[in-house]
Amino acid sequence: MTTARPIFVTAFILLAAAALPGSAWAEDISANEEAIIRNVDETTEAQIAFIERVVNINSGTMNLAGVRAVGDAFAAGFRALGMTTEWLDMPQEMNRAGHLVARTRGTRGEEGGQGGGSGKRLLLLGHLDTVFPKDSPFQKFERAAGGDGNTATGPGVEDMKAGNATILYALRALHAVGALESSRITVMLTGDEELAGAPLSLSRQAMIALGKEADAALSFESGTIDTAVVARRGSSNWQLYVKGKRAHSSGIFNEDNGAGAVFEAARILNAFYEELRGEEYLTFNPGVIAGGTEVTLDIEASSGTAFGKTNVIAQDVMISGGLRFLTQEQLERARGKMREIVARSLPHTSARIDFQDRYPGMAPTAGNLALFEVLKGVNADLDMPVPTAWDPGKRGAGDISFVAPFVASIDGLGPTGEGGHTPGESLDLTSVAPMTKRAALLIYRLTRE
Ligand SMILES: [Zn+2]
Repeated sequence: MTTARPIFVTAFILLAAAALPGSAWAEDISANEEAIIRNVDETTEAQIAFIERVVNINSGTMNLAGVRAVGDAFAAGFRALGMTTEWLDMPQEMNRAGHLVARTRGTRGEEGGQGGGSGKRLLLLGHLDTVFPKDSPFQKFERAAGGDGNTATGPGVEDMKAGNATILYALRALHAVGALESSRITVMLTGDEELAGAPLSLSRQAMIALGKEADAALSFESGTIDTAVVARRGSSNWQLYVKGKRAHSSGIFNEDNGAGAVFEAARILNAFYEELRGEEYLTFNPGVIAGGTEVTLDIEASSGTAFGKTNVIAQDVMISGGLRFLTQEQLERARGKMREIVARSLPHTSARIDFQDRYPGMAPTAGNLALFEVLKGVNADLDMPVPTAWDPGKRGAGDISFVAPFVASIDGLGPTGEGGHTPGESLDLTSVAPMTKRAALLIYRLTRE
């Protein structure tokens, strides 16, 4: 994708170039930054062609060879910028492709140390996989018919091959002005964001380690020029197991038999609803329930069976649910309250609730907000709208959440699209250049700090 292409020079660029070496843009734009912006404009067509190329390689999470092939395409791009690349394999039994890691020279030391680079150490995040398997009918990048040619559809075009390409082409622009080598930048493109390998402690181990080494983490999921993500909710799962005393229904509620498992489960769920509902950023959802005298529940498959009789007091209920939260404190408080409700058992019943961590919350920390201020400065200097922060209640969990507890983080830096995870997924091609300029200047400024 580095082959020479006709350079499309806009009138805007001609004006800027004509005014060099004086300041042609906002006063705060340096000559180096002007050159970075010009480079992005010159390579936008190549960038879109590269997006097309990688979208046309199927990389559904479970298509391990496809994920690897997309990784190889990006790895070649990073190596062309003088970066080193490494493929992190996952254990066989995890059944995931692994992850791509690319580093600038400034990051690499003889013993894995600082490598003599300077400025903030950045971790740039993306993912190679998509939700569309090899046998999905949705496989190709296509310019939307009938429109102005500014929209393309394709699997992963928005989520998030265009975001990954933003990383590559922003770094390419820095490379073009000689600003990449001494920077301390590590790129990690995961191979299993859409269906993370288990256990998470292993599939996200390298990312968390890289996050701890970095001063800032930038994630390139799809966004818009006037927004960024400084906070997003985390998620946890829970299962509720309720036991009652099996007996003839004629004796329900009496001293010997009590309320039965179904009434106890109903009490618990109703108490969750009455006592826990309504707190900002906290939601919880019982997704599947099975109750009766013989019950099975396969949590992984989200499915179960139940058998019971109208004249028998139910002895088992199993429920599998989810929980979303913003901060660890909110999560712990919610779990504590749920445990307390579960413990108030009706006569002759008992219940237990189990929780599993999934994605940590990304709280709006001071560090995240400081990065957001730098981004606002970039937008202002590029004459772009003042960005606002996404409502964390409207944003699902993402890979950035795994490093956000350890490092200042920001997300939503990739080009604009819609319909992710659906066969109508599309990308606004006119957003590719502005989002890449914004990213390049953000990275440039942070690595000069
Ligand atoms: Zn996704």
